[in-house]
Formats: sequence, structure tokens, C-alpha cells
Amino acid sequence: MNSLVKYFSDFFSALKSLLTGMKTTLKVFFRKKTTELYPEKRGSLYVAEQFRGRLEMVHTEDNHHHCVACGICQMNCPNGTIQVESQTVTNAEGKSEKVLVAYRYDLGKCLFCELCVRTCPHHAIRFTNRFENAVFTREKLALVLNRPGSSLQPKPAKPAPADTNTNPAKPE
Ligand code: SF4
Ligand code: SF4
Repeated sequence: MNSLVKYFSDFFSALKSLLTGMKTTLKVFFRKKTTELYPEKRGSLYVAEQFRGRLEMVHTEDNHHHCVACGICQMNCPNGTIQVESQTVTNAEGKSEKVLVAYRYDLGKCLFCELCVRTCPHHAIRFTNRFENAVFTREKLALVLNRPGSSLQPKPAKPAPADTNTNPAKPE
């Protein structure tokens, strides 16, 4: 008797699963279709903003970037895709400072996991949704992301210390 109950219980459970799946299939089957014509309608193509096409370095209009060459993105990249080349220079204040020489990114190795972007403390890199990355040789996928002649965005000048003298001189 118990085996008969179990049989029907399993049967209805399987039927319920099947109907749930069929419900989704039918819903999608009758949904309005969206067909993007590519490459014919390249200009009006919709690509979701969050789509990870390739990594890029953020530059300002004055050709400044925000990368301090700390190498955190390189350390966090699980696939050895990023190589941060830097050198130590003496800055205007006479202090040693690391500066970016070349930010190398191999698109052919990238897993598009975005760990580099999420761990960069200076928001110096981001993903763009540009997806047309096809080239004829793998070498062409090895990119340098800092633009020629670009440099680190200068820090804003420190405000002058406030006048703490609250005891103005007495008029004569
Ligand atoms: S997206 Fe992932 S794999 Fe690609 S460079 Fe960043 S951390 Fe490396
Ligand atoms: S991109 Fe960000 S995490 Fe990577 S080296 Fe530059 S500042 Fe550091």
C-alpha cells in the first residue's frame, strides 16, 4: 500500500515539475521577439550598459588618469591578465613616488570577472560595453591602457590653514 502511495506522490510531483517548465516555455514562446540586425544596424544596436566588453582606463579631458600603479588589480586578477609597469621618481616635493609607465592588459586572457575594477581603490579602470574586439592575431589583443603622454591626475591643492587668531589686535 505504501509503495502505491509513493508511486502516485512521485507521479504528481514529476507532473507538477513538468507543468512548471512548460509554463515558462509557453510564456517565452508567445513573448514579443527582439531581433537585433548586426552588422546591418550597427549604429542603433542595443548593448546593455553593464555588458563587459573590455577593460579600459579612465582618462580625463586633460589626459590624466587616476592610476597610482599600486598593483592591487594585478594581484587580484586570477588569470595574469594585467601587468602594471611602474617606476619610482622624485616628485616636486623631493619625495619618492611610484608612477605608471605602462598598464598592460591582455584581452585574450581576460575572464571578464571584473575583480580588477572592484578592487581598484582609485576607480582608475572600468569595463566598457564595446564588444567588437575581433582581430586576426592574438598579439593584437595585448593592449596598453594608459594613453600616450597621460599622467596621474594631480592632487587638488591643500587649502591654506585657517587663521586661528581669534584675538584681533586692539585698535590704537
Ligand atoms: S576582468 Fe578579471 S580576468 Fe579580466 S583583467 Fe580583470 S581581474 Fe583579470
Ligand atoms: S588600476 Fe587601480 S588597482 Fe590597478 S594599479 Fe592602478 S590604481 Fe592600483
